Amino acid sequence: MSAERQVVRSGKVVTIDYDLRLDSGEVVDTTEGREPLEYLQGGGEIIPALEEAIEGMAVGESKRIVLEAEEAFGEYDPRGRLAIPREQFPPDLDLIPNTELYLRDSAGNPVPAYIVSVTDTEVVLDLNHPLAGERLTFDVTVRNVRDATPEELSHGHAHSGDEPIH
Ligand code: ZN
Repeated sequence: MSAERQVVRSGKVVTIDYDLRLDSGEVVDTTEGREPLEYLQGGGEIIPALEEAIEGMAVGESKRIVLEAEEAFGEYDPRGRLAIPREQFPPDLDLIPNTELYLRDSAGNPVPAYIVSVTDTEVVLDLNHPLAGERLTFDVTVRNVRDATPEELSHGHAHSGDEPIH
């Protein structure tokens, strides 16, 4: 009996540590100082191009993965920036710049929007993802790979220890 080298494949639950940097050098996300990320490979829980680049990595392996904006959160679309009269929002709704709110599209689906600025008369929203237009550099280390449970496979995501079952 020989130990199988654990490699990231679709249907495995993968634990990674990572840093995410922009071209400016700014670190916008990291697992340093907190729990590593556990996700289901092939479940669409992380950016598809990132999932693709991690496929085949072995436990203990580190890799720098660079995603162009179009592989990550898309190019910045200036049409996504909207100025909406303040009176179209409920008067008691707290509109706080640099936070997110959810609009509804014509089918009733929630669409996240970023509040850019608020005046007495106007609210400027941005429908672009905050990382739209950015090239993303991930430094990823694979910490663990395990088989997904049948429940995880049917839900399409990993169940980590401290999260409620859903
Ligand atoms: Zn679940």
